[in-house]
Amino acid sequence: MTPPGGLQAPPGGDAALRARAARVIPAGMWGHLDARRLPAGYPQFFSRAQGGHIWDADGRRYVDLMCSWGPIVLGHHDPVVDAAVAAQSALGDCLNGPAPVMVELCEALVDRVAHAGWAMLQKNGSDATTACVTIARAATGRNTVLIARGSYHGALPWCTPVPVGTTEADRANQLRFDYNDVASLEAAVTAAGHDLAAIIVTGFRHDNVVDQEMPSLAFAQAARRLCDRAGAALIIDDVRAGFRLHRGCSWELLGVDPDLSAWSKAIANGHPLAAVLGRDSFRSAAAKVFVTGSFWCGAVPMAAAVATLGEMDRIGLPERLAELGGYLRAGMARLAQRYAVGLRQSGPMSMPLWLFEDDADFARGSAFCRAALAAGAYLHPKHNMFLNAAHTRADMDAVLAAAEAGFQAIIAA
Ligand SMILES: *Cc1c(COP(=O)(O)O)cnc(C)c1O
Repeated sequence: MTPPGGLQAPPGGDAALRARAARVIPAGMWGHLDARRLPAGYPQFFSRAQGGHIWDADGRRYVDLMCSWGPIVLGHHDPVVDAAVAAQSALGDCLNGPAPVMVELCEALVDRVAHAGWAMLQKNGSDATTACVTIARAATGRNTVLIARGSYHGALPWCTPVPVGTTEADRANQLRFDYNDVASLEAAVTAAGHDLAAIIVTGFRHDNVVDQEMPSLAFAQAARRLCDRAGAALIIDDVRAGFRLHRGCSWELLGVDPDLSAWSKAIANGHPLAAVLGRDSFRSAAAKVFVTGSFWCGAVPMAAAVATLGEMDRIGLPERLAELGGYLRAGMARLAQRYAVGLRQSGPMSMPLWLFEDDADFARGSAFCRAALAAGAYLHPKHNMFLNAAHTRADMDAVLAAAEAGFQAIIAA
């Protein structure tokens, strides 16, 4: 099939690319992006994207509700971001040190996030969460970090959900608690004793395969109080939620400010960038730790981030995504009722997760997503999805039409 828009035909369809990949890439694809983790029929390879849509390597177009698993927040090929990228590319990207745009971006981040007195930039979310933990240990001179059971903080040995090839020692000095459970957090703090360096917690609970939960006020305030009492750092991992819920840190919605925060996904509308933001009281520790990377000074992603943050403010991003997501959620609720299928929608409007009742083996979720895919919507059966600002009401209607095919597939099964 020829993709629309007069583009050249892709170099090979999905099946041909998978066969070639199987020869030169272990298992054909690594990690969570292995399409075999998705229901049959999902493509592995994508050829292009525009606004709220993606095209697979066979030229099929979908409304994109994964948004590259979070980074695409304004829409694919946002014209303002593309222009900033082109302008910085013409000047230089990977240089002997940072370009002026680094200072501009750090000023913009410090300006918009309440607790931030300073910013440091990296590439991936895992770089940022790791740096937060390192800075917290450097600042406190202690070791123990409290992590919520099931929360994802990245794929490095200290935090990977799949510990193959890592050692117990990689995860030394960690204790677990349950998200939104004040008693379990208090128990973990007590167990840490005088060695508590930090509590790290995601902006909201978005663990794979379970209903999403917003942080309760009591939980957020307890985390703050316990860190203050112990002289430990409260770290918010806002890598996934950051900027989609609020202009600043997601916990500002609760009036609770962390000491350190980790950012990535939406920060530069798809360009590789991450950030650590911190309070002034952690500035000297942040200055002492040795962190760097070959590509961390890349100026083009920083220019993309400056443009992305500006556009987020211009369009009122969180409100816009919440409105669009509310429309989608109401439509989904109506369909679930019409087809008498138990559907649980959880999480913020802009990052929906759809799980079906009586679906322990995900047969319903898989049938639903497979049918929706065939009808032109790229959804996920187990992971939260993402809206972007280029999505329109018409796109949401197209998703709802595809979802209707999904509900029909469930009741036909
Ligand atoms: C994606 C994610 C990370 C890791 O980011 P990478 O860019 O994949 O290294 C960390 N924390 C959360 C909450 C994430 O969603």
